[in-house]
Amino acid sequence: MASEKLEHLKARLAEVADIDNSASLLQWDMEVYMPPKGAEARGMQLATLSALKHRQFTSAEVGDLLSALDDAELSEDERCLVDVTRYDYERAAALPEEFVHEFSEAQTRAYHAWIKARAESSFPQFQPHLDKIVELNQRRAEYHGYEGSPYNALLEDYERGMTVERLTPLFDAVAPRQSELVRQIGESFAQPNAAWLKGEWDEQAQWDFSIQILNDIGYDFEAGRQDKSVHPFTTNFDMHDVRITTRFSTANPFSALMGSLHEGGHALYEQGIRPEDRRTPLASGTSLGIHESQSRLWENVIGRSLPFWKRYTPLFQQYFPDKLDGVGPEEVYAAVNRVTPSLIRVEADECTYNLHIVLRYRLECDLIEGRLAVEDVPEAWNTQMKELLGVDVPNDAEGCLQDIHWSHGAMGYFPTYALGNLYAAQLLRVIERDVPDLWEKVEQGAFNLLLKWLREHIHQHGRRYTPVELMERVCGEPPDAEPYLSYLSTKYGALYGL
Ligand code: ZN
Repeated sequence: MASEKLEHLKARLAEVADIDNSASLLQWDMEVYMPPKGAEARGMQLATLSALKHRQFTSAEVGDLLSALDDAELSEDERCLVDVTRYDYERAAALPEEFVHEFSEAQTRAYHAWIKARAESSFPQFQPHLDKIVELNQRRAEYHGYEGSPYNALLEDYERGMTVERLTPLFDAVAPRQSELVRQIGESFAQPNAAWLKGEWDEQAQWDFSIQILNDIGYDFEAGRQDKSVHPFTTNFDMHDVRITTRFSTANPFSALMGSLHEGGHALYEQGIRPEDRRTPLASGTSLGIHESQSRLWENVIGRSLPFWKRYTPLFQQYFPDKLDGVGPEEVYAAVNRVTPSLIRVEADECTYNLHIVLRYRLECDLIEGRLAVEDVPEAWNTQMKELLGVDVPNDAEGCLQDIHWSHGAMGYFPTYALGNLYAAQLLRVIERDVPDLWEKVEQGAFNLLLKWLREHIHQHGRRYTPVELMERVCGEPPDAEPYLSYLSTKYGALYGL
């Protein structure tokens, strides 16, 4: 009886997954290949699929099947599937259809207003739209319900179980120590020599180098591909079709390479999902924060390490024969880890990145909890930038209008980027314990033991554990800022002679 109901539920879920993955493929095409005039029709196609998916998934049939399976005798894995599905079902069903529609219309308008406002560097043009986005997110929180801060209901969409009560102390620990480190680095006399980076870097050679490194770290090109796009991203339609994109700068050889490593880290996670979870809600990374821990582990912890560049500097020289005369692994390592407090988050280095996130987190909390008026956002932004990073913001385009997220209606998303850094450092401690010759292997370009560890402890579980559960299971402790802060001060203390 229960097994019949379960099979029935799985069949419905498989249809929902197929609709969702088809929409993702259309979205991938939109960002990679679609001609500009295709945008209007594509928008309608995606809206139709999204409505269809919502209707199928929140149908009475799925609700009845879930209720029937509530007390059924199930295996541990089956119970996991039913619980995660019920969780998604309740989240999706909590929002009335008119609200979803209103939200999506406001998003479209806000997005177009934001493009124009940013181009003209004029916050007042975006202000009424941001007002609407904040109000809609406050209502969204009410529909979902929450304990403590309404912001918790928003965080939940990206990082299940994460709360302001847990996050604020983490970020309050990170911000002053990271600000102080950045200040000391700015005053250090040991600034890296980066003169050799000047000039043009051949795009084809950058592409070839990135493909080689992706192959080396274990990205499966039989189950994925790399393309170019304006904003790099990873998307997947199955564990056997996980695609990444990157973008090139002929002025900076690291931009595409580090982008590929970052997206490659996301992709390895999705390629490591169990095939038996295919077409179920379990078949994806458990949260954006854990996802980001994977991308940042490969990009920053591995890709910006000295052992990595001991391995790859000779290859770097082969790909760019005239560019690296007399430049050794130490010089590349120093250059790829240059610290410069800057205005733009997406260009921020490892050492300053989290400070950009702390700023956004504080502003979002204040907006959602009603302590900050939207019209005061630019001033609050600029004050925090000065306080956290020591930089003056010259205009709104390079300040509070720089990110796309708010125009997409997303609030509660930013913290997951910084959590990813924190998680990665916590995971590194356990990996170094379990794989004692990790760094020798990295220096040999042998990443299979590391990948095997990640597959076993993180990837294969999909959504079976929430992020906090997963961290406790793997690290024996909840999310913590200390490993990250000590990783940063050890690495950058040595690099900058502090
Ligand atoms: Zn990422």
